[in-house]
Amino acid sequence: MSTAGQPADGSRDPARRARQLRELIARHARLYYQLDTPEISDADYDALVRELQGIEAAHPELTSPESPTATVGAPPSPLFAPVVHHEPMMSLDNAFDLAELQAWVDRLGRLAPETTAADFVCELKIDGLAISLTYEDGRLVRAATRGDGRTGEDVTANVATVAAVPHQLAWPAERGPLPALLEVRGEIYMPAPAFEELNRRQIEAGQKTFANPRNSAAGSLRQKDPSVTARRELAFWAYQLVTVGREAPVATHSEALALLGQCGVPVNPANAVVHGVDEVFAFCRHWQEHRHDLPYEIDGVVVKVDDLALRARLGATSHAPRWAIAFKFPPEERDTRLLRIDVSIGRTGRATPFAVLQPVLVGGSTVSMATLHNEDQVALKDVRPGDTVVVRKAGDVIPEVVGPVLSQRPAGSEPWRFPTRCPSCGGALVRLPGESDTFCTNLDCPAQRVQRIVHFASRSGMDIEGMGEKRVQQLVDLGMLHDPGDLYRLERSRLVELERLGPQSVDNLLQALQASKTRPLSRLLVALGIRHVGPTGARELARTFGDLPTLVAVAGEDPERLAAVEGIGPVIATSVAEFFASPANLQVVDKLRDAGVAMAEPGVTPPAAGEQRAAAAAATGSSAGSGASAATMAGRSVVVTGTLAGYTREEAEEAIVARGGKSPGSVSKRTWAVVVGADPGLAKLRRAEELGVPVVAGDRFDELLRTGQLPGP
Ligand code: NAD
Repeated sequence: MSTAGQPADGSRDPARRARQLRELIARHARLYYQLDTPEISDADYDALVRELQGIEAAHPELTSPESPTATVGAPPSPLFAPVVHHEPMMSLDNAFDLAELQAWVDRLGRLAPETTAADFVCELKIDGLAISLTYEDGRLVRAATRGDGRTGEDVTANVATVAAVPHQLAWPAERGPLPALLEVRGEIYMPAPAFEELNRRQIEAGQKTFANPRNSAAGSLRQKDPSVTARRELAFWAYQLVTVGREAPVATHSEALALLGQCGVPVNPANAVVHGVDEVFAFCRHWQEHRHDLPYEIDGVVVKVDDLALRARLGATSHAPRWAIAFKFPPEERDTRLLRIDVSIGRTGRATPFAVLQPVLVGGSTVSMATLHNEDQVALKDVRPGDTVVVRKAGDVIPEVVGPVLSQRPAGSEPWRFPTRCPSCGGALVRLPGESDTFCTNLDCPAQRVQRIVHFASRSGMDIEGMGEKRVQQLVDLGMLHDPGDLYRLERSRLVELERLGPQSVDNLLQALQASKTRPLSRLLVALGIRHVGPTGARELARTFGDLPTLVAVAGEDPERLAAVEGIGPVIATSVAEFFASPANLQVVDKLRDAGVAMAEPGVTPPAAGEQRAAAAAATGSSAGSGASAATMAGRSVVVTGTLAGYTREEAEEAIVARGGKSPGSVSKRTWAVVVGADPGLAKLRRAEELGVPVVAGDRFDELLRTGQLPGP
């Protein structure tokens, strides 16, 4: 059963169910095609259409020429002048897996046996909207949307602002005289970086974000004011040449695509002519795996017969050509039920709302939870417990709740309210004016305690194998742990009595604890979880002060000395001073010292008391107290992609921000540099190349931070 529909009672009263489905489908088609604001995911819409197809196949008396299974798109909006297409713009039949693709090839073989030896063109199925471009004597005179396939909407002024659409065709002379009338069909789409940038601007302006690049492309194109379209950075790939009223100057589709390329029309370079079904499958598999390597979204592969004469023999059904099929990738968006919104408390006390979902298979894994970030984000999306919501998970990206399916909202539902009390300790949750985050301010809150210890033991901290969240929670619940210092006081005799912990595991745990005692000061500083102190800041502090007692002494006596250290600056210095001014934190330091934790940076001798100021000054290479080095990234926007040695993504961003810079998630004209680690995002790299943004190797990141200059070769 689709969550978007009613129970599938088609078996009992198929006529009634077919009517219901037609109404539902018509409603969602209108929202999608005319208003560019779909409420349900494509996969759930497709499920409704498939259910209707199933009923119509089993009960031919229920078929109708008006059924959405026999028509295309939706009627054009009255907001635009109508354009009657020279030739109908059809839809495509779908194959949802390779077996269905094979069935299509077999069917073609039965319809026209010569297809068995024919070539196919495999093209990426771009997730945008179809456009028809009419050229008279080589000049662009009209652009129209598909509409209902016969009549589309006149969007000429808007399409004229899309840089990739040529206003004049560069017809190659060797092809003979330029046809007086030519039509080019293709897809208008929004590249991923432009989409991210648009949504970033929407968030900044406190406005609703767009659900996906397809809807933002359609919404951007179907504007009354072309200057809005012009600002949206739309792009275009052509996939069909229509010669109106005369014979095509080519015999195959692949030749037509090549001719379009010669005319200066953008044709996707990934398109390929293939022979036989195995090569079709290989193309589909390849792009299913690599879809996220592209800087734009695709939702499948379109497979087309190459030979135009053979196509003419195969013909079309009422709504799609027989010679083409869309192989659809598994969905990355699905509808599911939002069961609850819970709040989790982090180590700093930050209260983060998250969605508890009816588990749903999406983007290759089962999703049952998704972060909702903060109070404002929940309000903007207005998702409510009990709602059906659209959940999106693309590739390795964390799952996201896109928004509610309003038509299925239960009656009487109320907007969700952020709790006023911490779910862990019952203390007050506080949101400071002007901030988006809410905090539990009770430092003794058990949830914060657990998270502080988990962070201490994590891989970026003291790296204590076997001390994950569940184990820490168990030990905190039993009163055996209160703070990270207690980790080193755990006794074997008590550990062996614990549930789910055998003697061998206890020994491993104790060994891991013992091994962690020798971690350098720089790691210990990260593990302590001092606000704003990431690996770079921790390294600089450790390199300058050599051991923890010296650092604690400096922080207490003269915090300005901290600010003078390379990459520290006043914000981090204040945070370090505040941390070591807290008696509870000093108690942790004492416990660590008593337990024999090293607390020193190998190879660094702590300066004697009087030398500390000089040490700080020497480390910066400037006069002590200037703090000038902290602003090396001031006014700069640095994008990080891939994994950098010694940094998590958050830490790398934090290091940039701590120096006055910004680190957005996408490359734009304003990006100063892109830092490239292992396994970088290819879309970001390509975008950097397109815009001529300097690319810096990940191993030069520290240098970049220190100098504020682009490293030389
Ligand atoms: P379709 O998207 O299945 O296929 C046809 C379209 O593919 C063409 O019109 C064209 O725009 C596009 N296309 C992209 N690359 C192409 C290429 N290389 N060659 C040819 N065409 C290419 O067709 P549709 O009829 O618009 O179908 C419905 C799609 O829209 C489905 O995916 C459906 O889920 C979605 N939809 C969703 C909702 C919703 O509420 N979520 C509502 C209506 C439709």
